[in-house]
Amino acid sequence: MPLFCKQCNERRYPVFQTEEKTSFWLCEKCENFVDVKDVIVREWTKEEKDKQKSKLEEFEKSTASIPEESMSRRKGVN
Ligand SMILES: [Zn+2]
Repeated sequence: MPLFCKQCNERRYPVFQTEEKTSFWLCEKCENFVDVKDVIVREWTKEEKDKQKSKLEEFEKSTASIPEESMSRRKGVN
């Protein structure tokens, strides 16, 4: 499996492709996907980039809300 990018040696991440029903490996630096044989399949599209960005933002929001919640809970206990 192409765990690392041949071009820049960055880590690649498997991203499931619903159309192809298989996972392609993404390099966020080179912005392209390779298949399991390490052959470049296609570019990382703008749509996918935006999706990834909004996922990250959601994740940051959900983790940021945790300390606030536990603080208010602690207040209720005391
Ligand atoms: Zn790369």
